[in-house]
Amino acid sequence: MAEGTGAEVDLRLLGGFAFTCRPDCGLCCYAEPRIEPEERERLLQILPGVDLRIERHASFLRARPEGGGCQLLDNQRCRGWSARPSPCQQYPVDVHIGERAQATLVLSCPGLDLSSLRSRTPWAERGPAMGLEPELAVVRRRWGTRGSRLRSEAQRRHRRYRSALERAGRWVDEEEVRREFQSRLPMPRPEDFPCEDPPEAADGLERLPLFFDGRPGPVALAGGLGGWELLELRATGGSEPLGVVPPPDRPPELSVEGQELLRGYLSYFLERDALFGTVIPTIGADSSATVRDEVEAELRAIGAMVLSRADVRKRGLRGGSGALSARDVEEGIRATDQDLLDRPTWGARL
Ligand code: SF4
Ligand code: SF4
Repeated sequence: MAEGTGAEVDLRLLGGFAFTCRPDCGLCCYAEPRIEPEERERLLQILPGVDLRIERHASFLRARPEGGGCQLLDNQRCRGWSARPSPCQQYPVDVHIGERAQATLVLSCPGLDLSSLRSRTPWAERGPAMGLEPELAVVRRRWGTRGSRLRSEAQRRHRRYRSALERAGRWVDEEEVRREFQSRLPMPRPEDFPCEDPPEAADGLERLPLFFDGRPGPVALAGGLGGWELLELRATGGSEPLGVVPPPDRPPELSVEGQELLRGYLSYFLERDALFGTVIPTIGADSSATVRDEVEAELRAIGAMVLSRADVRKRGLRGGSGALSARDVEEGIRATDQDLLDRPTWGARL
């Protein structure tokens, strides 16, 4: 499955996207990137005072407290750029390793142009991605050092889930599910709203959904004051309240272009192996649901989450009412995608 890259990573889901990192952003630096053992020494040589957090033998660059950015984030710039850990070098490419290794994009990154989501061309037939060559070089290097081992472990876990569901008569092949839903994407229904309780800021700002907004910068969504609160985050920690809006209790109205974009996103999500990797382990032993049923429910829930966050973002930051435009839906996708990709799967991540 080399797809002409020299690495055994399937790159088809990058097709048609273009990327340019925004110098005013820093959103992906509100994180604690993992440092690979082979990167640690070089990092400590270049930045001897750096503060590491160790968890289960793995090292992470510690973020500043109270939801602040990574300790190396300085005026929206990385002051350890030449030694930054490989997850930072690779972003916004995410690689899920399961039956195969599949590269996909973290659509929360505002440096990505999402217009490819509106194309009708099948995913496998879109042109090459633009602007991601350095990130893909990092993917190739990392795959070469650990990919085969991670894939064998993930394939073993996949076989276990598959045979348990086959014995219960509830397995449906992933490609069959994809074929069915690509021609009839499940859209959110009125009963899917309200679709989530916002996490409480008291649980820690670092746990909150984040997005980048050109004007205030990184913004977090939190529960508070009877609704969704929008908090402008500071790189040094702490936040500034921007407003609060009640959660939508029914589907917001959608423009034709907004609906088209939501379909494009659900179509993209359906192609991601991480969707199946997340959904399959949640199929309860005490229900009769099949893989197909769970994927359908999941796509509805994801659509509802995107629309809900789009609506909150619009009312909280832009004001105004009316149907959600394509731009509003795009903002909802950006406020949602990272959280969905961060969920555990039976697979592994490069
Ligand atoms: S989130 Fe995207 S645009 Fe923003 S700093 Fe990171 S890579 Fe650049
Ligand atoms: S190491 Fe640099 S690029 Fe990585 S999260 Fe920290 S500031 Fe951002």
